[in-house]
Amino acid sequence: MNEKQLCPVCGNDGLEEEAFDENGVGSYDSCDCCGFEYGYSESHEVGLGFIVTPKEMLDAAFQLYRKKWIENGAIVAHPEYYSKNFQENGKVKKDILLEQLQRLNLDLDNLEFLMGE
Ligand SMILES: [Zn+2]
Repeated sequence: MNEKQLCPVCGNDGLEEEAFDENGVGSYDSCDCCGFEYGYSESHEVGLGFIVTPKEMLDAAFQLYRKKWIENGAIVAHPEYYSKNFQENGKVKKDILLEQLQRLNLDLDNLEFLMGE
């Protein structure tokens, strides 16, 4: 059985393969939920000033991308591949988003603040 993998940015658990291997090399898949492309987005969309974001900085890149994504309303990147039950008006439903973020053991108080109301 092939276990589905978690997106390290949004907690979506629908990935076919691990987002990053133990060396920090991305799979070049992208998340249907948040749209992060592992191996690309951390350097080209949330550049921290590196040509290639080093492995130890990946978490910081995820945080930056996650913050921007949530602030922009958690828009579903590929609505056709992401469960219809999890989205509303093109965005991830708030309770679903919280559930996903909980899988990543994030500080939800800070994140709820970002989501606004
Ligand atoms: Zn994601």
